[in-house]
Amino acid sequence: MFIVFIGPPGVGKGTQANMLVEKYPMVKISTGDLLRESIRDKSVLGERAKGFMERGELVPDALVIDLVNEKVNSTAASGKSYIFDGFPRTIEQAKELDNLLESRSSKISVAVDFSMDEEERIERLSGRRMCPSCQRTYHIKFAKPKNDLTCDACNIPLVQRSDDDESVIRQRSSVYWDLTRPLLDFYRKRNLLQTIDASRNIDLVFSDLDRFIQKIKP
Ligand code: AMP
Repeated sequence: MFIVFIGPPGVGKGTQANMLVEKYPMVKISTGDLLRESIRDKSVLGERAKGFMERGELVPDALVIDLVNEKVNSTAASGKSYIFDGFPRTIEQAKELDNLLESRSSKISVAVDFSMDEEERIERLSGRRMCPSCQRTYHIKFAKPKNDLTCDACNIPLVQRSDDDESVIRQRSSVYWDLTRPLLDFYRKRNLLQTIDASRNIDLVFSDLDRFIQKIKP
């Protein structure tokens, strides 16, 4: 099974992907996480991606596609299903993903569109905090850590992602509308699109998602 998550920043794609990975034997490929990891490792890719990410722009397709190819190739032997979180984000990336899956005699099973009101998303994102060590995310209002702004697991102070600054959030949203939103039609035309109202509570969103997945015939 190959599941694609599409949605503007702040709709909770990463949270839902983590919940799926806890419930099912799945590999999660989050290009945002992989890129942040490359930046932390100070790799050549990380150095090239950093500026784009800080400005809220998309990292060039070729870099992201290489990253995904590498990750799929290195995990393919597991035989697990895949969730792509935040990839593809352009039509070009979607076509490359089709090619990659075709070369493995596979195809996308479902594309999930997470929808949410713009202002609510911005509130969610600007209150988001992250553990710099384990990368777990929290929210200053909706998912507070047990102790004041400290990671429950690592017991170190939480930080704000540099691209969760409000002006960068607005730029990331505008990139979504221009470059990523056309993917909805791309998948709708192939009868692969399922839309979820992501403004509801996390467990309700997850039960919809789970229902879609149960219906997929491998
Ligand atoms: P995310 O964690 O998914 O919100 O991604 C954070 C940032 O990483 C985005 O604003 C982009 O700069 C970059 N990024 C993540 N995924 C992609 C992608 N599929 N294509 C291009 N850039 C990406």
